[in-house]
Amino acid sequence: MKKVSVQCRHVRLSYGATEVLKDVNLDIEPGEFFALLGPSGSGKSTLLRLIAGFNRNQSGQVLIDGVDVSGQPPWARNIGMVFQSYALWPHLTVWDNVAFGLVERKVDKATIRQKVGAALELVGLSAMGQRRPNQLSGGQQQRVALARTIVIEPQVLLLDEPLSNLDKTLRVQMRQELLAMQRRLGLTTIFVTHDQEEAMTTADRMAVLDKGVVQQVGAPATLYDYPVNAFVASFVGTMNLLPGRVRRRQSNSLTIDVDGVGDLQFPLLTEAPDSEQLLVSFRPHSLRVDVADAARDARYVWMPGTVEASEFLGEFTRYRVRVGSQSLAVDQAHFAGLSKFPVGGAVSLGLEPAQVRLLAA
Ligand code: ADP
Repeated sequence: MKKVSVQCRHVRLSYGATEVLKDVNLDIEPGEFFALLGPSGSGKSTLLRLIAGFNRNQSGQVLIDGVDVSGQPPWARNIGMVFQSYALWPHLTVWDNVAFGLVERKVDKATIRQKVGAALELVGLSAMGQRRPNQLSGGQQQRVALARTIVIEPQVLLLDEPLSNLDKTLRVQMRQELLAMQRRLGLTTIFVTHDQEEAMTTADRMAVLDKGVVQQVGAPATLYDYPVNAFVASFVGTMNLLPGRVRRRQSNSLTIDVDGVGDLQFPLLTEAPDSEQLLVSFRPHSLRVDVADAARDARYVWMPGTVEASEFLGEFTRYRVRVGSQSLAVDQAHFAGLSKFPVGGAVSLGLEPAQVRLLAA
């Protein structure tokens, strides 16, 4: 099957006076598994429906395989879409549910038999063709919905929170199945989710949306390690964000007066934005936590703190540590025999300069 690209060029859409999509630009590569990630109401579904042709953009273009489809109705776009509520026909068997789109398209019987058989095999339901939807689990019903979409051989697969009705265990299993299937078919897939873990574990690349604006596009690890702003930094994982201002810029160091903490001096390992108001950002696990009077490794920037709370999560312990008037999240990897820092105790936090991102405030 030919792999196709999907592009959005300066796409805008408003409902009345409310602009829901604001100059959206995306370049989705042929065969890519691409996630649209954002909080509820950020415009993900609106954008997906627009790519499908159910919503019309007021300006800009949607291109599939380089062809402007902005004026085309959904059925002309050769797109398959799976919705959150995947409503199967309850009175039809699994087989007939999957065959439905082909029957409508007046495909001959032998071809239908072959294609439905292949689609059911792909989703692992070959043995269940004669069951009705109410005789299937939620996960199996979701697979029928997928088979029903794939059987018509779309060029692009659009998935709108397809796993959100499933329980956690099934969701994790299904997302791996979905990815494996997508890889086998090489089908360009756009996947809407508000769950950052779901996006991170499956997507080749993802776009983070907020208030109808694409904040950043990139591979999950790129967005995690190099977020461009505070929104992306906090939406993709947990981030400590300390507001401060530049006190001194020198050739080899940058001194930042951090609100409620005081001056911290960083070697110039990280790129600093030009603005004087900054956010010093770092992930909870990039801090070293040590007893207050430990010998200090000069490669770290050290801050004294007090443990306010701790949560044991198995793989690691998450501490809340007060530093000046700031409260930081600090993760320490756990292993048998490691004793925890007590709540109320004094600690030293070591910040590795290479792990710090300076963001414009
Ligand atoms: P998401 O999928 O990220 O949760 P949506 O795309 O569903 O967000 O919605 C984006 C915004 O557009 C929301 O503020 C929502 O209330 C609004 N919206 C969505 N559909 C309509 C509609 N048919 N009429 C008016 N406003 C809508």
